[in-house]
Amino acid sequence: KEQLFKNIIAHSKEYGFVFPSSEIYDGLGAVYDYGQYGAELKNNIKTYWWKAMVQMNENITGIDSAIFMHPEIWKASGHVDGFNDPMIDNKDSKKRYRADNLLEDRIAKYEKEGKTEKAAQLREQMEGFLKADNLSGLKQLIEEHEIACPVSGTRNWTDVRQFNLMFSTRMGATAGENDVVYLRPETAQGIFVNFLNVQKTGRMKIPFGIAQIGKAFRNEVIARQFIMRMREFEQMEMQFFVRPGTELEWYAHWKEARLKWHLALGPDQARYRYHDHAKLAHYANAAVDIEYEFPFGFKEVEGIHSRTDFDLSQHQEFSGKKMQYFDPELNKNYVPYVIETSIGLDRMFLSVFCNAYTEEQLENDSRVVLKFHPALAPVKATVLPLTRKDGLPDKARAIMDSLKLDFNMQYDEKDSIGKRYRRQDAIGTPFCITVDYESLENDTVTIRHRDSMEQERVPVQQLHDIIGRLVSW
Ligand code: ATP
Repeated sequence: KEQLFKNIIAHSKEYGFVFPSSEIYDGLGAVYDYGQYGAELKNNIKTYWWKAMVQMNENITGIDSAIFMHPEIWKASGHVDGFNDPMIDNKDSKKRYRADNLLEDRIAKYEKEGKTEKAAQLREQMEGFLKADNLSGLKQLIEEHEIACPVSGTRNWTDVRQFNLMFSTRMGATAGENDVVYLRPETAQGIFVNFLNVQKTGRMKIPFGIAQIGKAFRNEVIARQFIMRMREFEQMEMQFFVRPGTELEWYAHWKEARLKWHLALGPDQARYRYHDHAKLAHYANAAVDIEYEFPFGFKEVEGIHSRTDFDLSQHQEFSGKKMQYFDPELNKNYVPYVIETSIGLDRMFLSVFCNAYTEEQLENDSRVVLKFHPALAPVKATVLPLTRKDGLPDKARAIMDSLKLDFNMQYDEKDSIGKRYRRQDAIGTPFCITVDYESLENDTVTIRHRDSMEQERVPVQQLHDIIGRLVSW
């Protein structure tokens, strides 16, 4: 499985999906660029989400708020004080670790050795200290369990310190204390602070939702597993505003609806599971993760959280502005409760990519094929003239031109037809349209299907309908 994941990362680079950022300067940690096919795939995932959330739900509307926001917002949301990871440095290797990760690794080791009681005890102590923000308690555990730095092998540790995950910069020309602004660590707050703007201008009635797709930034100290944990990433979030007391019904609704959205792309259902949170953040009264089975195990892709009236009430207090809704049916004002659905676009990308990646053994050959859902595939169809002469390229170009406004198409006349099919398999193109001599006679072409590799002959006139039907949402 480790090898499989390495192959997946290599394939994503070799075929123009994901590149390490600033690669010619040896890269920048946990930052990635999307290449020509990656950008298409990412856009298609966004469209799939936007259509399902905004277009299909008449009571959900979409916005696009700025990355920079008033710094008070992050005090109100709790991010200035509470969005921290407990860090510890090894004085010899100068390497920095998350204290809880060091302890997690030790717990895993105990479990592997069959010391389940010891593992459970350590977990309980660690979670207690994390909850109480007891940093010296965490340090004490690291010392008691004689945890050494994986790089230097020594136990020469600094104290545990809180490390805020928000990136900050300065706004304007004068540099003073008050000019600090943050790069948003989540898109949700842009929705909360616009709650009344949207509600009033859109004449929205509760229950209703506001959705947004946008960049978020977190100074993650431990960057592992490729685009799973990035410092610059994208989120697709929706906040659903409801009447207090109805939130758990809506929570159940969104929990189910969001899993269906994932499964509609056709992955094996066994690759998905819910992970209900036993311990809740102080503002939440229910929370669940939707997890996907990556080659490195089940990991969170999306979170659904019942956030009560925490965020709106905090903004009401910090801004001094009322964040209330007048409910005409109840004839009263209240601060709505909120159900949030929050999914990382990059993690979704990785799950789609892992799910599609297939190494296939054929009769006397093998191929790597990306079996994307046709609606998500970066290139929908490629037109291939069988040879480069006798007018076949002209015919192929004319077909390409008639389709490329509606579908992302490619034209390829280089190399043998077999090689060209393999190139398209490797980027997940669902259909190859081959133009041969018969095409010149009766205006038909063959369509080759990516997954079955079967071919059928169809009239050129029907191509638009056929492709449209197969790649539609
Ligand atoms: P984790 O526990 O994995 O750090 P989280 O619980 O902090 O995630 P949320 O704050 O709930 O995550 O963010 C919502 C979603 O945003 C996550 O489900 C994930 O898909 C995505 N996400 C969060 N942090 C990152 C990151 N550093 N890189 C990529 N995606 C991320």
